[in-house]
Amino acid sequence: MSEKKSAALDRREMLGMMAGAALAAPVLGVSGLAAAQAPRPAGREKDKAPPPARGATVSPQPYTLPPLPYPKNALDGFLSAEILELHHDKHHAGYVRGLNNALAGLEEARKKGDFAQIKALERELAFHGSGHVLHTLYWNSMSPNGGGNPPPRLADALTRSFGSVDAFRKQFAAASKAAEASAWGVLAYEPLGDRLIILAVEDHQNMGFQGAYPLLVCDVWEHAYYLRYKNDRGTYVDRFFDVINWQFADERLGEALRLRG
Ligand code: MN
Repeated sequence: MSEKKSAALDRREMLGMMAGAALAAPVLGVSGLAAAQAPRPAGREKDKAPPPARGATVSPQPYTLPPLPYPKNALDGFLSAEILELHHDKHHAGYVRGLNNALAGLEEARKKGDFAQIKALERELAFHGSGHVLHTLYWNSMSPNGGGNPPPRLADALTRSFGSVDAFRKQFAAASKAAEASAWGVLAYEPLGDRLIILAVEDHQNMGFQGAYPLLVCDVWEHAYYLRYKNDRGTYVDRFFDVINWQFADERLGEALRLRG
């Protein structure tokens, strides 16, 4: 199931999951191409606009909440259906709404020529946009068929970057447990150094590494685990490895390597 679902993640979503500021261009670029290819409403021939030239700028679409890649009770041994429902339907949905609101606010500012709120709007864009990206990755970083060992390509990359798969597990768990307050453990491919790195991202948008391409994430905000694990973040992080979706991370690594060329 995990393989089917992660493969079903479309290219726009995949490209949209770039980290930090680096995500903006691919999201808009690919969204724009998708919009250009969408069927247009029928109308009189003379009213029809000519098709946009290749690479032409078109209006980007609003962001939407993707469905969970499995039923809400599919991870019940790890996280309850109640946690997943609240987390996806309320928290993740809120970040999608906040992202669209930030973009609408920026559009309004441009129209009015009034940038008095620009600092707040840029902060909202970074927070909610990164929140949307990270949550989309998080659902796919877990699978009811997860756990076990990584596929050979990912295992080799983990070994080259961290010494061994077990050394990766220990560092990822330590970073996720030690991160202060609302944070994320992130495994990412860093194209300049051609290596994997582990980040402890704070909120959604801080402590990142520009251009790094996230492969696998663990949400350690309290809303992710408190209803079952209370204040025991450590057990939640340790058990995350029981459902970890190595296959998804391996596919993301393949995508990152193709983008790097
Ligand atoms: Mn969350």
